[in-house]
Amino acid sequence: MATKLPAAQARLYKNMFVCKQCKSKLRADPRKILEKKVRCRKCLKTAFRPVRKK
Ligand SMILES: [Zn+2]
Repeated sequence: MATKLPAAQARLYKNMFVCKQCKSKLRADPRKILEKKVRCRKCLKTAFRPVRKK
């Protein structure tokens, strides 16, 4: 059930990323994603995309 509040949705999806390899989600600082300091906990890849983008 999605919330109606755009601000709340932004908060929910903010800093959420999806692993391009195994599709698992995690929350991380976007700067760390760009700097590849964040690894997927499942497959250890550093390739992520924002969660909402298709
Ligand atoms: Zn992964």
